[in-house]
Amino acid sequence: HTSVVLFTSDLRVHDHPPLRAALAGADAVVPLFVLDRAIEDIGFAGPNRKAFLADCLADLDRRLRDRGGRLVVRGGDLVEQVRAVMAEADAPDLHLAAGVSRYAHDRERRLREALAADGRRLHVHDAVITAVPPGEVTPAGSDHFAVFGPYFRRWSGCGPRAVLGAPRAVRVPDHVRSHPLPAREDLTGLSPGLARGGESEGRARWNAWLRDGIDRYGERHDALADDATSKLSPHLHFGTLSPVELVHRARARATPGAEDFVRQLCWRDFHHQVLAARPRAATADYRTRGDRWRSPDPADSADSPDSAGSADSVAEDVRAWQEGRTGYPIVDAAMRQLLHEGWMHNRGRLLTASFLTKTLYVDWRVGARHFQRLLVDGDLANNQLNWQWMAGTGTDSRPNRVLNPVLQGKRYDPDGAYVRRWVPELREVRGAAVHEPWKLPSEERARHGYPEPLLELAEGLRRFKRARGLG
Ligand code: FAD
Repeated sequence: HTSVVLFTSDLRVHDHPPLRAALAGADAVVPLFVLDRAIEDIGFAGPNRKAFLADCLADLDRRLRDRGGRLVVRGGDLVEQVRAVMAEADAPDLHLAAGVSRYAHDRERRLREALAADGRRLHVHDAVITAVPPGEVTPAGSDHFAVFGPYFRRWSGCGPRAVLGAPRAVRVPDHVRSHPLPAREDLTGLSPGLARGGESEGRARWNAWLRDGIDRYGERHDALADDATSKLSPHLHFGTLSPVELVHRARARATPGAEDFVRQLCWRDFHHQVLAARPRAATADYRTRGDRWRSPDPADSADSPDSAGSADSVAEDVRAWQEGRTGYPIVDAAMRQLLHEGWMHNRGRLLTASFLTKTLYVDWRVGARHFQRLLVDGDLANNQLNWQWMAGTGTDSRPNRVLNPVLQGKRYDPDGAYVRRWVPELREVRGAAVHEPWKLPSEERARHGYPEPLLELAEGLRRFKRARGLG
């Protein structure tokens, strides 16, 4: 008989438990991806992620064809499409990776009910999307860890499952129909420097990273100009790489750099287990600090009553931040990197999020939405919970820390090379002086045409401290 494997955020053939289980129990499989209308409708998929997804699906199809199979793609209502494909293939079993968001949990429930009504079975597989399944380690008296340190210790001790190889052969019944694959070429509005997706690309990047990058990760990862992080985040988001395999292979290197890298993979699992246990944290404060955030979007005030500030001035502040015109060079450089690549360095994400929430005192949801629109690795767990971390409404044990963009610039871009790369107006300014353009002679400033600071940092800090009741 035939089994169906529904791919979601796990677009690979290597180390794929649902595919392996389906092949072990059946003579043929239907590898299925549904372009889910509901995800389209909630506007979650920006053009950058759609383009990356198109690459991933094309590559998955090629890899399955190399093994004698192919990918079946459908579009529309997910449950209806799965039922139709299972009926066409006369398949009693569906295999699926467990997801963490409220939407993923709902999807599982709807599939389980629909399949039960049809007399079919759903098999949900853990440790596909994360290295350690959410809920596998918990502290006494709670369903999830709210503090990273103890989570990391437990996570490190539980050793993920063994890595599975890619199947040699995949037989797909001929008569099951597929829609055409989506094509990157049909999309508009992409960031010009967007990375390519797909398992082949992901594995090539991963191997290059193991060879050339990982061992020096610890010392270099915060250096903004160095491009010394793995840039594997979109591959982890779409599951073209398996986090279980990455943990095993990084640990096998046994270098301090590789250990630091594994710790970052644990951060990813950490945020996933928070979201799995508290799905509301995608839109509401995980911890309330009594904030009355400013927001140009009235919908946000539902979660943040009595938002302060006039809508117009907030909208202007937000636009300046989005377009990289705040007058703080390190903030603007990072925001422009996001526009250009659909990706931003982690240090940039931290300091731009701090600037929006704690200097401009704008609702973290406004920032999270902008990131979600553009980020090729835009991920509900990682994005929302990192935003909450920086806003101080999440799991950070120092919720009131504010990153000073001038000091951050001098520290993580000491020579100013990152700013000069992304802010061409300041290209002539040498060294660290680029972080304080307001100190340059006025004729020089007029020539550069770079904006004046949107507001004084001291004023932002006063506003934030008042808002948090810190005196
Ligand atoms: P590396 O430094 O090479 O790290 C390896 C991997 O570890 C990453 O690919 C990622 O999967 C994981 N990782 C690293 N840091 C974190 C972290 N702080 N939290 C969770 N996982 C981490 N990451 C996303 O994948 N998607 C997002 O939407 C996202 N939004 C963010 C928003 C804000 C405000 C902040 C501060 C961080 C966000 N991050 C997000 C986390 C982090 O910035 C990115 O994962 C990282 O910059 C990706 O680059 P890299 O692959 O080169 O990372």
